[in-house]
Amino acid sequence: MAERVYNFSAGPATLPLPALEEAREHFLALPGAGASVMEISHRSKEFTAIIEQAEQNFRTLLNIPDTHKVLFLQGGASMQFAMAPINLLQNTGKPADYILTGSWASKAIKEAQKVGETRVAWDGKADNYVRVPKQDELDLDANAAYVHFTSNETIQGVEFFEEPETGGIPLLCDASSDILSRPIDVSKYGILYAGAQKNFGPAGVAVVIISDEVLQRVSDGLPSILDYRVMAENASLYNTPPTFTIYMIMLVTKWVLEEIGGLDKMHALNKQKAQMLYDAIDNSGGFYKGHAEPDSRSIMNVAFRLPSEELEAQFIKEAGASGLAALKGHRSVGGCRASIYNAMPIEGVQALKDFMDDFMAKNG
Ligand SMILES: *Cc1c(COP(=O)(O)O)cnc(C)c1O
Repeated sequence: MAERVYNFSAGPATLPLPALEEAREHFLALPGAGASVMEISHRSKEFTAIIEQAEQNFRTLLNIPDTHKVLFLQGGASMQFAMAPINLLQNTGKPADYILTGSWASKAIKEAQKVGETRVAWDGKADNYVRVPKQDELDLDANAAYVHFTSNETIQGVEFFEEPETGGIPLLCDASSDILSRPIDVSKYGILYAGAQKNFGPAGVAVVIISDEVLQRVSDGLPSILDYRVMAENASLYNTPPTFTIYMIMLVTKWVLEEIGGLDKMHALNKQKAQMLYDAIDNSGGFYKGHAEPDSRSIMNVAFRLPSEELEAQFIKEAGASGLAALKGHRSVGGCRASIYNAMPIEGVQALKDFMDDFMAKNG
């Protein structure tokens, strides 16, 4: 078998080895089913147990209250950029407030603009999206249908560590790149959604955690496949879901629960990993420059630059040759980005930190 590298890809991203190994072991035949999980009915008792376990793992990890449903929907987070306003904004006569902290929030508002009236509650663009806003910088409309924010901007590497206060207006959050990285209070959210392929599985599913109160606000007459109420009434089985992806999500969330020991421990580990890289940046005498301001630094995506584009290209190439893969930054920010999601082991981060110190010693 080919060697596995330390994979710093932003997404689809590295997965926990024990989850991959269990999937490999049962790839041809799931115990009790005599067939692969990909070959059985989504209404079979074996698959029912899998999707229920995946939901239960989310509920346990995030301590999700009974007031919220957990849905597994296709179309990724981008589908939610459209689905949320179609369900909750269209024909309300109200605006929706969007907090623009980077590339993903900007994509979210573009979809909402096609459906209804939007407002920009804060825009970090003038500063090149280097931080998240403070509460008193937000310009929120008391009549808004909802407030939308992006808890972690995967490309810019800026992250919220406290939810915006909305004064009772439903709070919607795209948590695609930091869900399950730390504990949060789900009762504060009207909708918390995230694509799987950063922090909890392969591509193909978004988890959508939605409050009953928000479900009651859904517009009538929507196409069934786009209607949160239909998806909730059918427990995500209105049509055939991506069964293999949901199986992997069940295994990855089981790993966070049983092998890591829950989100407090996951958070401690994630903070430790991020600190190692930010220390390497801060102690480099300006050789490495972080994109984010210190208060907003993401613990999942560390975006940084080197003194020149030539050095950046050399860094990425030599890192790759040392088994540290996918460190190229997104073209909109440039430079390098290390995505260090839950499944990136601390050994991988240590190897990157050592490489950074070495590279600077040779080229600084
Ligand atoms: C990756 C990402 C998305 C897009 O996810 P898809 O599943 O490709 O639609 C949206 N928001 C954030 C924060 C992301 O990191």
